Amino acid sequence: QSATPEPLVRPATSSAQAPPQQTGEGVKVIIRIRPLNQSEVLAEDCTRAVTCMDDYTLTISPDKKKQRSEEACTFTFDSVHQETSTQAEVFEEVGIPIIENVVGGYNSTIFAYGQTGAGKTHTMIGDPECGRKRLAVEGGLAPRVFQYLFKKITEEEQRKRDEYGNPEELHFSVRCSVLEIYNELITDLLNPKEVNLQVREDAQRGAFVDGLKEVHCQNASEALRLLFTGAQNRKTAHTRANSKSSRSHYIYTCFVERTSKSIDGICQTRHSRLNLVDLAGSERNNMSGATNHQLKEACHINKSLSTLGRVIKELLESQKHGGGHIPYRDSKLTYLLQESLGGNAKTTIIANISPSSISYHETLSTLQFVRRAKYIRNNARVNEDSEEKKNIEDLQREVKRLKETITN
Ligand code: ADP
Ligand code: MG
Repeated sequence: QSATPEPLVRPATSSAQAPPQQTGEGVKVIIRIRPLNQSEVLAEDCTRAVTCMDDYTLTISPDKKKQRSEEACTFTFDSVHQETSTQAEVFEEVGIPIIENVVGGYNSTIFAYGQTGAGKTHTMIGDPECGRKRLAVEGGLAPRVFQYLFKKITEEEQRKRDEYGNPEELHFSVRCSVLEIYNELITDLLNPKEVNLQVREDAQRGAFVDGLKEVHCQNASEALRLLFTGAQNRKTAHTRANSKSSRSHYIYTCFVERTSKSIDGICQTRHSRLNLVDLAGSERNNMSGATNHQLKEACHINKSLSTLGRVIKELLESQKHGGGHIPYRDSKLTYLLQESLGGNAKTTIIANISPSSISYHETLSTLQFVRRAKYIRNNARVNEDSEEKKNIEDLQREVKRLKETITN
């Protein structure tokens, strides 16, 4: 293994030569190993390449006999989920803390990374074919997260009601959106007529997709219905263009707004954004040994994924030398999710891998990719607009104006 890089923070501006700081919180990286599939079990030359050593450590070797020897590569992460790990266990470790953060006002993102067939969609959604009702019970992170989000919201509102006896004191509002990025084109999966939406940025909202449908949801079943609609529209698009699904990124977002009133009548609003990202298959991101032509083609097909790799690389470089340019705007994915990569968000990456020797090279590449990503440091803060803060700012402006009047 190469030397472990030090933690880093995203530079304040892309060109400033700021000295690196060592603050913030690291990106959480979790590995999920899927069971061997039928064709791997039946393949004559297929053995296991990955061995789980404990809850945090795994080794990988192309040769089964060497898996516990020094020749095997060892990796340590925040946790390693073995084949036997259930959807409920993954949700408990990843989903529950994320919802606690979102309800508290922090932006949060979960990425699923890995080669096609490694289990990203299984982890994020579950099997969309199984129908909406079963998805709610047996599904992956998204359906569980949506249900838990509304459960937490109801609990919080109830708690405030018990405290103050007034239901108006705390109110949550949730909007959901579903989009696909394919070949740098953003399609709204809740309104699939919209096929070339643009990412824009403003001071209040940060980066957002202009014109994307954001649907208000009152409860978990409304959110689940949208999730299902998005998944169905995704399937339709997939059937039209074969293998498009593995080359597309899917982003399921919940915008949560929490408005509360203190006893002295001051209003505070917290905004948070939860992104669940089912990334395109990473095999196109691993082109060592490819010809120039293949590289060019791969970059074109998946600019977002290759830019994600470059953003991580540049973030690590900027930690060593300070400053540096982070190419967030070079792709739709990184532009939209820039806060999740070295910015104002709590981020978890789930790397999905196959245990089989057939996938050895792709799995090794996935593990190396996420090992780099775990050294990115984010600076998440509660996103709060307070009436009191606004009043103070207004008064400060007024004092400044009056001072200027006097001196003039
Ligand atoms: P990806 O989205 O990474 O291309 P999928 O999530 O579609 O991969 O998974 C490929 C196949 O493997 C699917 O049939 C899925 O149900 C199955 N699978 C993936 N992960 C698991 C798991 N942890 N347990 C059981 N089956 C899984
Ligand atoms: Mg998939």
